[in-house]
Amino acid sequence: MGTPETDTEIEAAGNFIRDIIADDVARARDEGRAVEVVTRFPPEPNGYLHLGHAKSICLNFGLAADFSGRCHLRFDDTNPAKEEMEFVDAIQEDVRWLGFDWGDHLYFASDNFQQLYDWAEHLIENGTAYVDDLSADEIREYRGTLTEPGKPSPHRDRDPQENLALFRRMRTGEFDDGAKVLRAKIDMASGNINMRDPVLYRILRAEHPRTGNAWCIYPTYDFAHGQSDAIEGISHSICTLEFEDHRPLYDWFIDNLPVPATPHQYEFARLNLTNTVLSKRRLTQLVDGGHVSGWNDPRMATISGFRRRGIPAAAIRDFCNRIGVTKAASTVEAAFLDSCTRELLNTSAERRLGVLDPLKVVIENYPDGDGEQLTAINNPNDEAQGTRTVPFSREIYIERSDFMEEPPKKFFRLGPGREVRLRFAYFITCTDAIKDADGNITELRCTYDPETRGGNAPDGRKVKGTIHWVSAAHALTAEVRLYEPLFTATEPGSISGDFLDDLNPESLTVLTGCKLEPGLADLALGETVQFERQGYFCLDADSTPDAPVFNRTVGLRDSWAKEQMKG
Ligand code: ATP
Ligand code: MG
Repeated sequence: MGTPETDTEIEAAGNFIRDIIADDVARARDEGRAVEVVTRFPPEPNGYLHLGHAKSICLNFGLAADFSGRCHLRFDDTNPAKEEMEFVDAIQEDVRWLGFDWGDHLYFASDNFQQLYDWAEHLIENGTAYVDDLSADEIREYRGTLTEPGKPSPHRDRDPQENLALFRRMRTGEFDDGAKVLRAKIDMASGNINMRDPVLYRILRAEHPRTGNAWCIYPTYDFAHGQSDAIEGISHSICTLEFEDHRPLYDWFIDNLPVPATPHQYEFARLNLTNTVLSKRRLTQLVDGGHVSGWNDPRMATISGFRRRGIPAAAIRDFCNRIGVTKAASTVEAAFLDSCTRELLNTSAERRLGVLDPLKVVIENYPDGDGEQLTAINNPNDEAQGTRTVPFSREIYIERSDFMEEPPKKFFRLGPGREVRLRFAYFITCTDAIKDADGNITELRCTYDPETRGGNAPDGRKVKGTIHWVSAAHALTAEVRLYEPLFTATEPGSISGDFLDDLNPESLTVLTGCKLEPGLADLALGETVQFERQGYFCLDADSTPDAPVFNRTVGLRDSWAKEQMKG
């Protein structure tokens, strides 16, 4: 799959792993065997989840649901140097928020440390693992290259009893970090470098978030992963393509150990997204370097960032389903997630009135006082969402960009002597524009036609423009944060080599003094609404009752701007 150009192209994308599982299930049925589809999502708790993880979550939980199986959540916590409980908690919150449930099947690779240790001794006793004294650098040197075979370590032929004694002393902490490792004894001449006596255990004195200081040796990813799959009875172990060359090793462990099941590994292409980074290492750099406010900064391509930005979980699931699952590397346009978000919110989000750049309008023939309550439709695409009332009064705010002193031909909004419709309210006609000493317009004077209440003229006369407004006396004053992509380059770092060079200095715009319809004071955290003609917005967790803050989730397509471009 190349970069998806159109929605239909994306919708056509398939899922080859689903096809494989369907075949497996059909074959088992033909052979009269019971088959249970069991998948897992195996994050390392060394950061928050990003959109790439969402693809893996939707795939694994989705397949389990499709085939009436189950999906486990397993923390791959074998590297205590980088892992933290904060991440363990955040990952669970994010998976749940995305809409998936692992039931009782929450696991940690660290739960298997004793079993893995026992299996390591099993390999040693069988003569297929040995303790090596070479340093990490020497091991790399001895390993050879893609074109040259490796050469054996001088310790490769230690006898099993000596290896067993040394491995036990590694475990009890007799050796320094890095002094020795346990390696599988497979094939130093293998064409696959992963099979050249891979490391199974290293000595590392670091407090583990779950096992504390119980261990000073830790299994590698390769030694822990497949065996954990086997222990949990995983049928289809799905991972990204960089593990394709590890599959022979995955299978070697399963073949050479008395594991209770024989899982199989399948690989798919990881998701890449334009104008962003999807790698925990880089995301960590953004957080630690203060380039963003945290893992859940609404500009981050993290699940928690999307949540804070107001992107619904269903839009992320829809995105993941529509990009498909293939073996070909691909980069998806960030705009495609925006499009999935808009498509969903267009039907689900209630409409509200919000003025981001307010210009005061005094309606001179409207009576002074409290004004009146007008009825507004919550969602023109869904009558079931009902109506609400919004206060209207003599002084209102409109969007500064909805007035032009000398409007060009295609500008249908307000100008001197022009009449427009105030959404859900009245027709108004501009009589005057008041300016300050510098010539800036500070206020408009208008008159309204009382006969047009609700937005229609009984004489049938039409106006071409409808604009939004908020009653000045009733308005909620808020800060509104607008977001643009975090990076200016499609592929950050592709030119200079440092992705931070491509940070977009204009990724965040903070607007203050925005005027919103008063009911927005009660908007629930996590609910996204449409500000008519502006885009989709949600309340930010930084809000206080006195100082509400809204995030723009995604803009609407601006038909005016499009017209301008055409003209
Ligand atoms: P990162 O490079 O961001 O640290 P990772 O693969 O090391 O990613 P893990 O926590 O080990 O992160 O990944 C958990 C699961 O999510 C793995 O099965 C991994 O293959 C999958 N995954 C990670 N990144 C992506 C991605 N960009 N697209 C699809 N799946 C991904
Ligand atoms: Mg990783």
